[in-house]
Amino acid sequence: MAPLIPSIQTCLDQPQATTVVIIGAGIIGLTAALVLAERGIPVVVLEKGRIAGEQSSRNQGWIRKMNRSAPDVPLAQASDRLWADLPARVGAEVGYCPCGILYVASSDSEMATYQGWLDSVGDLELDSRLVTATHIQNLAPGGTGTWAGGLYTPSDGRAEPTLAASAIARAAMAKGAVIVEHCAVRTLSLSAGKVSGVVTERGEIRCEQVLLAGGVWSRRFLGNQGIDLPTLPLVASILRTAPLQGPGEITVGAPDCSFRKRRDGGYTISHRGVLAAPLTLDSLLLGLRYLPVLRGQWKNIRLSVGRELLGDLALGRRWQAKQLSPFERVRTLDPPADPQVNAEALRNLAAAWPVFKGAVVKQAWSGMLDVTPDSLPVIGPVAEVPGLTLATGFSGHGFGTAPAAGQLAADLVCASEPIVDPAPYRLDRF
Ligand SMILES: Cc1cc2nc3c(=O)[nH]c(=O)nc-3n(C[C@H](O)[C@H](O)[C@H](O)COP(=O)(O)OP(=O)(O)OC[C@H]3O[C@@H](n4cnc5c(N)ncnc54)[C@H](O)[C@@H]3O)c2cc1C
Repeated sequence: MAPLIPSIQTCLDQPQATTVVIIGAGIIGLTAALVLAERGIPVVVLEKGRIAGEQSSRNQGWIRKMNRSAPDVPLAQASDRLWADLPARVGAEVGYCPCGILYVASSDSEMATYQGWLDSVGDLELDSRLVTATHIQNLAPGGTGTWAGGLYTPSDGRAEPTLAASAIARAAMAKGAVIVEHCAVRTLSLSAGKVSGVVTERGEIRCEQVLLAGGVWSRRFLGNQGIDLPTLPLVASILRTAPLQGPGEITVGAPDCSFRKRRDGGYTISHRGVLAAPLTLDSLLLGLRYLPVLRGQWKNIRLSVGRELLGDLALGRRWQAKQLSPFERVRTLDPPADPQVNAEALRNLAAAWPVFKGAVVKQAWSGMLDVTPDSLPVIGPVAEVPGLTLATGFSGHGFGTAPAAGQLAADLVCASEPIVDPAPYRLDRF
């Protein structure tokens, strides 16, 4: 069962017109809405299910600059500053804590990879550094693993996904944003080739700009508009434990397990090394484009051939504004957690940090990631459709960068100076 976010009273009726419509009330759409509302721009967020019902409530809550590709680091650095200010800005606790993130390596070749990453970001003023096995004992006490060393970033951290999404939603509404749940957007309305509104399951809303922040659904939505956005779905399973006296505040990723402390005193745990790849039509259409990124990662990808393919085909790829859309058929994507993967994660973790042998599992869930061929999101306009901007494809690491990514999307929508250079995120790079 997925984590629940605190219930929020959203708007029951959709307005007939606004300036900006945002499709998707995940953390990206919500953050963009907050920024637009703070700037006094009328904005309506439309969510087919519940606020943050998909990835944005299901993630692990890691906020990291470490091991991001160099072009993505400035967005993460800008986000750190925004995370630190967020509680004051939204008037609520979001669980932000710069507790440090440590990756431990079991081989010299992994250490060489970490050194290669450090070299690639050498001019970006990060506090990341290599650490020895002795340092690891001090940073995450109680471990019995034999590590070749690790990569450590003291300023990386965590926040609580469910708290953050609901706090941002409330603050956006307090500043004038309208959020409507259970309201799927079927298609765009176009006039002379430009965006003039959206057609929802409850009728049309006229607007000047649309920001698509639809997570794994963005590819399908755009496909229906004749626009190709390459993303493949991958499923990650995780679990949380009851409170326990673990290895402190630090967040740790090992090759085959990971943990981060939660605000309630428990730990969120994942395998880290394993992702499920459900076979869908897109796997066949896009698979080859992922070969470079998947090289060397095959052991981590578990291809699943089953109901997903039929479900995917049944949802359909083309529909009209008058027809029921795939977004009404699946209100909240809720793939089952893989008990085997979670059990493996806990076993591996208990072998490395024996304190987890006594962990009591309270909840397990999974979520579907929207992964692009280069693992960078797409944040920027769609040249073929003036008035349409994308903020999507966050590839499994968009929670940490959400504050700056949402702001960048809002900057691009209202043509103000972008918080960071948007060039790495252009759609036309594919
Ligand atoms: C298990 C797991 C662990 C993760 N761990 C981390 C982590 O530790 N750190 C990190 O940085 N990132 C992590 N991530 C990734 C992170 O959660 C995502 O990158 C981020 O939440 C993406 O936010 P989003 O708003 O783009 O997407 P989502 O949260 O998926 O939101 C998209 C929303 O759009 C709605 N929608 C789509 N189409 C329509 C439509 N046509 N009409 C109306 N509504 C629509 C959907 O219902 C959904 O609510 C993890 C993800 C998962 C699943």
